[in-house]
Amino acid sequence: MSKHYDLIAIGGGSGGLSAAERAATYGAKTAVIEKGLMGGTCVNVGCVPKKIMWYAGMLSHALDDAKGYGFDVKRGGLDWQKLVDGRQAYIKGINDWYHTYLADSKIDEISGTATFIDAKTLEVAGEQYTTDHIVIAPGTVPVVPDIPGAELGMTSDGFFALTEQPKRIAVVGSGYIAVEIAGLLRALGCEVTLIIRSETVLRGFDAMLRDVLMEEMIGAGIKIMSSMQIEKVDKADDGSLNLHCDGGHTVTGFDELLWAIGREPLTADLNLEAAGVEMDKRGYVPADAFQNTNVDGIYSVGDVTGQAALTPVAIAAARRLADRLFDNQADRKLDYENIPTVVFSHPPIGTVGVSEEQARKEHGDAVKVYTSSFTPMYNALTEHKTQTAMKLICVGAQEKVIGVHMIGLGADEMMQGFAVALKMGATKKDLDDTVAIHPSSAEEFVTMR
Ligand SMILES: Cc1cc2nc3c(=O)[nH]c(=O)nc-3n(C[C@H](O)[C@H](O)[C@H](O)COP(=O)(O)OP(=O)(O)OC[C@H]3O[C@@H](n4cnc5c(N)ncnc54)[C@H](O)[C@@H]3O)c2cc1C
Repeated sequence: MSKHYDLIAIGGGSGGLSAAERAATYGAKTAVIEKGLMGGTCVNVGCVPKKIMWYAGMLSHALDDAKGYGFDVKRGGLDWQKLVDGRQAYIKGINDWYHTYLADSKIDEISGTATFIDAKTLEVAGEQYTTDHIVIAPGTVPVVPDIPGAELGMTSDGFFALTEQPKRIAVVGSGYIAVEIAGLLRALGCEVTLIIRSETVLRGFDAMLRDVLMEEMIGAGIKIMSSMQIEKVDKADDGSLNLHCDGGHTVTGFDELLWAIGREPLTADLNLEAAGVEMDKRGYVPADAFQNTNVDGIYSVGDVTGQAALTPVAIAAARRLADRLFDNQADRKLDYENIPTVVFSHPPIGTVGVSEEQARKEHGDAVKVYTSSFTPMYNALTEHKTQTAMKLICVGAQEKVIGVHMIGLGADEMMQGFAVALKMGATKKDLDDTVAIHPSSAEEFVTMR
């Protein structure tokens, strides 16, 4: 006989875990089906290992900077294996914590690949499970291009499996994962070439952020090759990689190649047809504002929806869904507007709200922009200087703040608070009326003229 649940989540990542956890707090009988490691992309091959590597990159910069402050430090070598071992031990701690937490919360863990039998029945490793509600949260996987020799490269998953530091690496892509990995590898001393198809990185971000980041990356020694499309990869006699690009251009001499050109939904295994759940043509499972799919009792959350692929978004949407289903909060749903985000580049970017380009398109002359750029005080004594650039985008006579953008040291920790202000409808006057914190970079946001 099959086992029955109130809710089953497919995927033990940010979305699936959060739906089951929140539902369980209301007394629902829940299970999470996971075919890999508990915690999903974020914990195992995403945010968490990436942030550890970013910290390593920041420390590397700090070692160089310390000399300017009078420290007699010499940068020795980097023990890559030690860094990776430490990172993986930290992640294992999170994986283990999940198992205990799920058991304590009376949430069943089911290991294996879930497939739909019908709209209320799932099968995992030959066992069937019935349920009133199903949350589809299988996430996405990195895309590898369909070109000869593409398998000679790795993806971000492969990057986190590297046991040796790459010496010369080509990173292909212009999104946040590409610039983050390129930046941290350069900070750790690798020779990095970033190959992008268009003219610039971080499409959709405010132009100020893109421009300053490109300058900073070039200043840090990253070679950026723009408007280039790789058509074939092969190996030279010495084992290094040749990248053959459009226009007959060949770039050579790489030990490693990393594809960071996008991600695709992990829906092929699910047999969604058996439940009648619709996918779009790329395989994403669209959800309405309440995370409902086209089938009653089946929901999609997280990256598989094709919307704002960020951990806190998956978590927030899943929790609100469980509030709605099991706590009678009928109107509870995630507001997908004004989602703050950070790019862990060097220096980092923090951003919330619309870009200047978007604002001008939507509001024309009603837009007023304030900017500030400076060298942060941290760099007063350091040999290497970084730029900080900030932008506030306001609209209307009240100068309501609709965009806050920053690239520079500290942006990563600064933006959360400004996101609250923006969400509450802050105006430029509210910022002006806030007393500055001195000396800080953040104070510029409340003193801009
Ligand atoms: C390199 C990288 C860096 C990132 N950095 C950040 C960051 O700094 N901040 C941020 O907010 N976001 C970041 N993200 C994005 C973040 O990881 C995702 O938005 C988040 O993990 C999405 O959660 P999810 O629950 O939708 O999917 P996932 O976390 O991908 O979880 C889905 C889980 O479902 C499992 N699964 C799939 N199919 C099945 C099946 N049929 N049966 C059983 N199990 C299945 C998978 O094994 C997986 O564990 C990063 C992503 C990457 C790749």
